[in-house]
Amino acid sequence: MKASEIQALLDEPACRHNHKEKSGCARPKPGSTAGGCAFDGAQIALLPIADVAHIVHGPIACSGNAWDNRGARSSGVALYRIGMTTDLSETDVIMGRSEKRLFHAIRQAVENHRPAAVFVYATCVTALIGDDLEAICKAASERWKTPVIPIDAAGFYGTKNLGNRLAGEAMLKYVIGTAEPEPARPHPAGIPTYDVSLIGEYNIAGEFWKVAPLFDELGLRILGTLSGDARFCEVQTLHRARVTMVVCAKALLNVARKLRENYGIPFFEGSFYGVQDTSNALRDFARIIGDADLMRRTEALIAREETRANAALQPWRERLKGKRVLLYTGGVKSWSIVSALQDLGMVVVATGTKKSTEEDKARILELMGPEAKMIDDGNPRALLSAYRKYQADILIAGGRNLYTALKARIPFLDINQEREFGYAGYEGMTELAKQLALSIESPVWKAVRTPAPWALEKRAAVEGDALAA
Ligand code: SF4
Repeated sequence: MKASEIQALLDEPACRHNHKEKSGCARPKPGSTAGGCAFDGAQIALLPIADVAHIVHGPIACSGNAWDNRGARSSGVALYRIGMTTDLSETDVIMGRSEKRLFHAIRQAVENHRPAAVFVYATCVTALIGDDLEAICKAASERWKTPVIPIDAAGFYGTKNLGNRLAGEAMLKYVIGTAEPEPARPHPAGIPTYDVSLIGEYNIAGEFWKVAPLFDELGLRILGTLSGDARFCEVQTLHRARVTMVVCAKALLNVARKLRENYGIPFFEGSFYGVQDTSNALRDFARIIGDADLMRRTEALIAREETRANAALQPWRERLKGKRVLLYTGGVKSWSIVSALQDLGMVVVATGTKKSTEEDKARILELMGPEAKMIDDGNPRALLSAYRKYQADILIAGGRNLYTALKARIPFLDINQEREFGYAGYEGMTELAKQLALSIESPVWKAVRTPAPWALEKRAAVEGDALAA
């Protein structure tokens, strides 16, 4: 990839913060890939496409770095969960065998698994030695009559965010627009159907399955997603959607913008975290499609679901009311989760903003008031000291903070991509409330904070000796 192409991607016009310091679009600085390299970002964005063989062309360590690091679920085929790599060694590099190894790897993937397509990911090593990924993929496509797509996002190109964008560019260049969708089947209720698409939705822990039935009921056919529970043939048809929703991630904004520019598809940004945000997302679809009957049916569905959600949340609200939360998560999640927690009657004492844009921070201020405490430093010591200073009852953060919390013996909830539970939609909100209450009220905290019986005995013996002396 040329430097000018990378530079163009760093200047995303649809993102209002791309020139601001600390935004996701900032130029990479030395060490900035410590939170995930561009290859990592590209694989995160595309790995959930379930019927594709994902081959990492490079040393095996790169593959281990990114494989399955999101808990994205598939409703059927699970080819994406087989880690494939060319496993290059020093000898392969010195002897110039890497292109040959890639060709064989593609053949093996096609012959053994009959995938819908093969994605080949460049890594630092193969980009540095100058493997011609595009030419190999083209030759392999012709030879095995299977789409073989080069994903040119080597680690040293930049950050994880940039890798997401490079993955999006590859989809725009080679995949989207290469097939037409099947005609929609008549809706059982006799209502018209509209095709929509979702970008930046990864179906973590299967959470989108809690929301998808609402789309079906409204007659919104999800043509495809980038990339939760997606199939290759669905991604090919994204250019036929009436509306695109960018879900909780600005990183793939370039795809939404280019779908608008090239195919005239409007897009909006939204979230499925929290009752209010879910309702707003459904309203936005209806509003942009502009069908009065769809708007009326959407409002009726929202009223029904909100009533149901509020009834389900009531017992949890009583248990969680007034509990204090220290939230440490990045990006858009910081404000969408703040809003969801406040809806439960909880007090967010401080929130992390390390990966947040200026707009995210403005929304946090709007929600939490001008006194909102924002934490930029997420090292374990700083987090624990903030936890004690603000007298929090629970730490909500990503999986990498799990052991910080366990060692400090404080309640913890994993909110990031490794989480075990889905929190999207109206039902997801009840799941979030339930997991929060179970974590805060777990008897394990009292047990682990109480000194062990033998420690008490030892202390008593020492005190007894001291008295006797
Ligand atoms: S692509 Fe480069 S930076 Fe990324 S894991 Fe591999 S060697 Fe490391």
